[in-house]
Amino acid sequence: MPSLQLTVLGSGTSMGVPTLGCHCAVCESTDPHDQRTRPSVLLSYGGHNVVIDTTPDFRFQAMRAHLDRLDAVLFTHGHADHVMGLDDIRPYNLKQKSVVPVYGASDTLAILRRQFAYIFEEGQPGSTLPLIELHDIEGPFELFGIKITPIPAMHGAQPVLGFRLGRAAYLTDFSSVPESSKALLRGLDDFVLDALRYVPHPTHSNVEQSLALIEELKPKRAWFTHICHDLGHVQTNAKLPANVRLAYDGLGFEVAL
Ligand SMILES: [Zn+2]
Ligand SMILES: [Zn+2]
Ligand SMILES: [Zn+2]
Repeated sequence: MPSLQLTVLGSGTSMGVPTLGCHCAVCESTDPHDQRTRPSVLLSYGGHNVVIDTTPDFRFQAMRAHLDRLDAVLFTHGHADHVMGLDDIRPYNLKQKSVVPVYGASDTLAILRRQFAYIFEEGQPGSTLPLIELHDIEGPFELFGIKITPIPAMHGAQPVLGFRLGRAAYLTDFSSVPESSKALLRGLDDFVLDALRYVPHPTHSNVEQSLALIEELKPKRAWFTHICHDLGHVQTNAKLPANVRLAYDGLGFEVAL
């Protein structure tokens, strides 16, 4: 059966864990599972590597994952913790002598054009700019032979996209999921989803809300991501249902397509 390998490159919230200047038990934990870089996953299949989001930690994450080539980037939305590593794709442009296609909703692509204006402007001769090609996501599309289904959700008042790939889905930075998107999230083996902390947040799902969504959609397994320092790895896992676990940097599993 065709499959892909999903690797969690980063499982942390926008500030990362440890959080700068914080001395709480989780930030000072010696358990490597409590060290969370900014949220991103890697999809590897058929010799291709696709990342979802390029975080401010992208360079470090790519080194840690021994990422020797990069074939495409999918963007969930335009927040800084999801896009600011885009400049660091340049070594792949040089090595592969090619542009890297970038996929996102039109509002996300507009943010990229603004945040990274220098990419689209006439630059200094000889300076190395990221070589990207923007693709507007308007519905399901094929990428290197597999079907990618965008999952629209809301992140407070802002739209965000999750992605379904075969029997897995990745949905970060959401506070509500419309019924039409829930229909796209049924029959999952693995669901990687936002669960920031226990305390409610205006733009993120918390543990209670994400558990309710899991109860409704019934994936075989669920993995919480975009986790802040309120949630210690061992302590939180001990309280979660058996099929729900905190994701962690480096978590990997195979996904049936
Ligand atoms: Zn985020
Ligand atoms: Zn802390
Ligand atoms: Zn966000």
